[in-house]
Amino acid sequence: MTTTAVTHIASLVTNDPSLGNGTPLGLTQDAAVVIEGDRIVWTGESSKAPATDNVLDAAGRAVIPGFVDSHSHLVFAGDRTQEFNARMSGQPYRAGGIRTTVAATRAATDEELSANVARYLAEALRQGTTTFETKSGYGLTVEDEARALRIAGRHTDEVTYLGAHIVSPDYADDPAGYVDLVTGPMLEACAPHARWIDVFCEQGAFDGDQARAILTAGLAKGLQPRIHANQLSYGPGVQLAVELGAASADHCTHLTDADVDALGQGSTVATLLPGAEFSTRATWPDARRLLDAGATVALSTDCNPGSSFTSSMPFCVALAVRDMGMTPDEAIWSATAGGAAALRRTDIGRITPGARADLVLLDAPSHVHLAYRPGVPLVSAVWRSGQRVV
Ligand SMILES: [Zn+2]
Repeated sequence: MTTTAVTHIASLVTNDPSLGNGTPLGLTQDAAVVIEGDRIVWTGESSKAPATDNVLDAAGRAVIPGFVDSHSHLVFAGDRTQEFNARMSGQPYRAGGIRTTVAATRAATDEELSANVARYLAEALRQGTTTFETKSGYGLTVEDEARALRIAGRHTDEVTYLGAHIVSPDYADDPAGYVDLVTGPMLEACAPHARWIDVFCEQGAFDGDQARAILTAGLAKGLQPRIHANQLSYGPGVQLAVELGAASADHCTHLTDADVDALGQGSTVATLLPGAEFSTRATWPDARRLLDAGATVALSTDCNPGSSFTSSMPFCVALAVRDMGMTPDEAIWSATAGGAAALRRTDIGRITPGARADLVLLDAPSHVHLAYRPGVPLVSAVWRSGQRVV
């Protein structure tokens, strides 16, 4: 197998606290990384790097793990430019705008949807994202939801069934009937194509009892739960996520002290999605409060055409540092190791021997520049599973 060394890395983020400076980032100076096949096989001082087939001299730049974007909605057609424009002209965001995308997605061909996913993935890759999760949720019929999951599965292993995104417009007068569909025939058709099940637990979408019924049905079919929780208002989502042992409670914008305590004490990751607050001019989630309570925090894009049409993890890092009380170190950890935790993965989000060789070389001497120089394209090279892809 071919071996490649990346040498003279000014600052290497390993996310192994036993390495380097002893912080959660496991920051090591003047480092090298050796890749063999799709794995990392060695890290250490650059001067001690073993001989390899290929060498790339990082020349004093920084290397971080590839970003793990644990929350996106990429199987869709059309966009919602007019809705965004109206919102930025003063109209509030409500969950119902999803219906516009449902109509466009149902009308699209498989090829159009798959090409759209590929396009946004390529965009994310250029910005350093090497793992992403994505969801159904714009079909809302048995066939359209199963189709979305099949298409998502061509691009990633982290596929989430979100038939419970909103009540389908076809069931506007019968939400209970729609929950029966989501937990019955739709789940039956979708479960073979997904790893996760998700629900939008929110006023205007699904209440706590409905969310519990949906996630419990998914668990019985072998799907693992994650929840859109407490985004637009206070509600039962976070407590339900912790109670069911969900991998992640996503958004966490409106939290009571009891919600924060539950996330601080449980194993459910709090995934914050600042692109949504940015794109809806909403109140920022308070990352500092969660971190101080001991919660594991992930950062993700929520990339979707309605409330957060960004695929950029560096943008989310910058927002988290500027507006959510995170230090640059915490934000980088959350965008890499935090995302891996939200997907219950240990093979990604770190640069240590045995991990998948997902690396990002920055055109900067330190990871801090991702927040210090917002909006600047600092990603210089990307390796995914040991292959140089950017
Ligand atoms: Zn979402």
